Amino acid sequence: MSSEKKLAEEIREISGVNPLKCMKCGKCSATCPSYNEMDIKPHQFVSYVINEDIESLVNSKSLWKCLSCMACVQRCPRDVKPGKLIDAARQIVVRQRGGDYLTPDEIPELLDPDVPQQLLVSAFRRYRR
Ligand code: SF4
Ligand code: SF4
Repeated sequence: MSSEKKLAEEIREISGVNPLKCMKCGKCSATCPSYNEMDIKPHQFVSYVINEDIESLVNSKSLWKCLSCMACVQRCPRDVKPGKLIDAARQIVVRQRGGDYLTPDEIPELLDPDVPQQLLVSAFRRYRR
């Protein structure tokens, strides 16, 4: 199995998404608050995973421009969850870089009480295995 194929499979597995359900309506992109800053748009994440072009996806600006707000997930009429696909791609990069160095048990003592809950949930979604 080629490494691109393996990574595409890993993204499908981590995200729990079936990209083949996408009907390319573009509603996810229309609702995305980071759309203008993205080089690969939310509705296109799906095609990159289907075409197993994971290298382009993980090297895109979009990988770090996505806010994990999941507005696209709520908007998608086919339950495709493009935000989860990009989240999974980000996790793959973080794992490859060895950035996954904290366990959940270690987090509470590092918390600042002024940190917004939304930020924590977003970071947890992004970095948990
Ligand atoms: S909203 Fe869903 S079905 Fe429509 S393009 Fe985006 S991922 Fe595909
Ligand atoms: S989760 Fe990411 S891709 Fe989806 S709407 Fe929010 S910023 Fe855009």
